[in-house]
Amino acid sequence: MENVFQEFAGYHGTLVKPYYWLEPNQTCTKCPYHIKTGEESRVTYGEFYEAFGFPYGPTMPENKQLIFYEVKDFSGTNIQKGQVTNCISSNIHAESILFEDSGYLDALLYHHGSVGYITLYANYTPCNEYGHYCISKMYNFLLKYEDTRLDIYFSQLYHVEEDSPAAAWNRQALRSLASLWPRVTVNPLSDGIWQTLLYNFAKGVSLSAFYEPILPARASADSSNASTIHLITGFKPYFVEVSPISKPQEPRNHHESGMLKTHSNMVPKHLSGNSQYSAFPGPQTSIIPFPVPRFQLQQAAMSKPRNVVRHLKMPGQVDNEFDVGSFIPNAKEINEVVITEKVVTDKDKEEKGNSRKKKKAK
Ligand SMILES: [Zn+2]
Ligand SMILES: [Zn+2]
Repeated sequence: MENVFQEFAGYHGTLVKPYYWLEPNQTCTKCPYHIKTGEESRVTYGEFYEAFGFPYGPTMPENKQLIFYEVKDFSGTNIQKGQVTNCISSNIHAESILFEDSGYLDALLYHHGSVGYITLYANYTPCNEYGHYCISKMYNFLLKYEDTRLDIYFSQLYHVEEDSPAAAWNRQALRSLASLWPRVTVNPLSDGIWQTLLYNFAKGVSLSAFYEPILPARASADSSNASTIHLITGFKPYFVEVSPISKPQEPRNHHESGMLKTHSNMVPKHLSGNSQYSAFPGPQTSIIPFPVPRFQLQQAAMSKPRNVVRHLKMPGQVDNEFDVGSFIPNAKEINEVVITEKVVTDKDKEEKGNSRKKKKAK
């Protein structure tokens, strides 16, 4: 496979130039590293809010795409997590970058060989507009890796409104993509998934933010997204409805108030009951078990970046743990989880030395 990307080691993950010809420039602040993996994929709470409109409600950031992704094997074990952004200077959408033929993800699946799940957490639904064809690329990718499942969670719908010139294209393409159900689901972000997303991909977030109830503006947008995507695709999305609360400071209690309603029984197995996740020491009122990931790095943190071009994780390679305390202050309970895992990680680390492979760029 001729790769079009270049991969570099960062301190806490990898930085990927999705196209070798991309260079730093004044127009695109993200250039040239539009894919970042491992802990490099985390963004500040401010950037998270600006892109996703969480917790205060939709922001519709003009021309700014942010997608977080998780790649897991068939047992639901994490292989990689990462971030993809669109390129403003070259006008390339994030999905287009991620699902590019012979691109980074293609190479990851090709070399890894046993990817069961890809989950996207995107601030916009994918498009299929002229010059981008994001959904077509995703569709072709899924045809190529026919055992891999794709679940998309989004916070805002992209160009599907009646007055949008590309609405018909985008709606039809979303319908085609969703027709691959049950391998593919397209769902609004909602309820506990928001907190999971924040936990896995944001940094500098206070612990209390994970227990904040969903604010009315956000809950209402999520609900509206659920009906619209259902209308467009004909498939009921995974969605947990939370009735808007009048006093945001009050702790919610779904069990007692009966506010919570799950609209679908299609909760992906790898999101609902995953044995690799330990229980989050959350409030009694939380109805969805809040999964705490084993914070993992794709590779041991490097003292300084170096050009490795390819160091995709190979089967049998074990990740290093991530010190959650450096991202979430006062996260004492969470640190205990991480320390427990360190025993396993250190033991396994010795086994991985032989299996690591690095290849030069072509
Ligand atoms: Zn760029
Ligand atoms: Zn697009």
